[in-house]
Amino acid sequence: MRKLAWQQKIAKERIVILFDLAEKEFEKHPERSKRYVELARKIGLRCNVRFPQQLKRKFCKSCNSLLIPGKSSSVRISRKALIVKCLGCNKVYRYPCREKIKTAH
Ligand SMILES: [Zn+2]
Repeated sequence: MRKLAWQQKIAKERIVILFDLAEKEFEKHPERSKRYVELARKIGLRCNVRFPQQLKRKFCKSCNSLLIPGKSSSVRISRKALIVKCLGCNKVYRYPCREKIKTAH
């Protein structure tokens, strides 16, 4: 148990670092950026680490591209959901909006 917790801690740190690198490389080396995302996902799977919410929405699960609004993704807000589309592979993600929309109006 202890060893596992320790491994997961290291894995989480690596994932954060890899996403950081992916962001830095995104403009100049999109392919490299994807590779970092891919690596981060592999580490997550192997060590059974769940991605933090903010990272989960940051990449395309289909092509591993970072999803940057206006650059690699388009974002629309409908009445019920946040709709994010990957411009690399056209995959669409829907994130249901909860109370946020109501308070915005
Ligand atoms: Zn994609």
